[in-house]
Amino acid sequence: MINLEELEKIKKKALEEHIPIIMDDTLEVIKKILEEEKPTNILEIGTAVGYSAIQFARYSEGACVDTIELNEERAKTAKENIKKVGLEEKINILIGNAVDILPTINKEYDIIFIDANKGKYPIFLEEGIRLVKNNGIILADNILYKGYVLSDYNKHKQRTAVRHLREYIAKAIEDERLKSQILEVGDGLAISRVTK
Ligand code: SAM
Repeated sequence: MINLEELEKIKKKALEEHIPIIMDDTLEVIKKILEEEKPTNILEIGTAVGYSAIQFARYSEGACVDTIELNEERAKTAKENIKKVGLEEKINILIGNAVDILPTINKEYDIIFIDANKGKYPIFLEEGIRLVKNNGIILADNILYKGYVLSDYNKHKQRTAVRHLREYIAKAIEDERLKSQILEVGDGLAISRVTK
């Protein structure tokens, strides 16, 4: 049984500290997917303070979540948060750059959730396809990035991120192994069913 009171505190603190955690409507969509798919193994790229990893473990009873975080301070907080809600047996944090860590993983996942550096989304998708099981699902959050991705937005600051998110969407649509939907929930969620 997870400690829901602690989970609410973790969410509140993350929002107060402007840590970008999954939005409620995006989580609602993923909750339904988890309930339908009943995953055993979930991989998350981008832990932050562990909020979404905790929610995924909460909604998929029996599943193990591996989650990757670059920032050591955040990973430390995530570890503490996971302990507070009582999920330390279910969630495993890998500390480091996912670009380096992903190629070292040799495990099959039912669901992969991408929620990290937007400029690396195409790399995460490639690695995700390698690591997801046949008929598994790859999810990518923030895929519409405040609407920039589908507009003619071209400001320097976010230009690289926008270009890579557009590249992700193009691959999600064109790659024959992927059957994808782009939902306008939260900041945009890509859902790709993978046939290998
Ligand atoms: N999934 C979290 C949640 O909903 O609670 C939020 C994740 S936050 C949007 C993105 C996190 O990804 C940040 O904490 C950031 O440090 C981490 N990150 C960014 N680039 C990364 C990379 N290349 N490898 C691993 N983590 C990365």
